[in-house]
Amino acid sequence: MKIIKSRGPEIFDIELEKDLLAKNRSLAKENRKRFDRSNILTIDIMGSIGSGKTTLIKAVLKRLGMGEKVAVIAGDLTTTIDAERIESEGARVIQVNTGKECHLDAHLIQQAVKRMRLDGVKILFIENVGNLICPGEFPLGAHKRLVVTSVTEGPYTIVKHPYIFKEADVIVLNKIDLAKPMKVNISQLEKDARKINPQAAFIRTNAQSGTGIQKVINGLGLKT
Ligand code: MG
Ligand code: ZN
Repeated sequence: MKIIKSRGPEIFDIELEKDLLAKNRSLAKENRKRFDRSNILTIDIMGSIGSGKTTLIKAVLKRLGMGEKVAVIAGDLTTTIDAERIESEGARVIQVNTGKECHLDAHLIQQAVKRMRLDGVKILFIENVGNLICPGEFPLGAHKRLVVTSVTEGPYTIVKHPYIFKEADVIVLNKIDLAKPMKVNISQLEKDARKINPQAAFIRTNAQSGTGIQKVINGLGLKT
């Protein structure tokens, strides 16, 4: 089989992309300092559209029961659906609409944080835009990064997206109740994840029912 491999970005984009990523990294460091100054543990939640990022955040919020001591930045292209769903759990929420951008970046987070009331906040969740490619390349300054994937994405999601899974501190496999009807082998997905990122915690969940949510809380080092 003939394989054509890209050796990176198009020639004219190389310098631009290098600058962009370097600028993002330096803003991410500033964000981290800001979070540390206020003692806010910040978690970047990444994953495909429909993997269950919002449902997972809602389930964690419910179990934590910390009300306004938790804040959420919800990233989305144009809608406020996720922010409204999360708000119903009592957390402070701010929506960031990225328009055509397929990921959040450290600059957007800096702007969002400036506009939020963060007094008394202990934990900040950032729900990234649904996408398994570029969010991994744009650290936001979060202390931990979590990637959610669900069995409904089929058997090859993890092997096909090694870069983002390498970035994760916690990998969540969601919708495990659907593994049988989807004919997906959960153990194989776990093996794929462990091979790519042996350090990350691998947690199986059904965020709808609450299965595995306590393990996610423990895996992220959140106190209950
Ligand atoms: Mg969502
Ligand atoms: Zn993107």
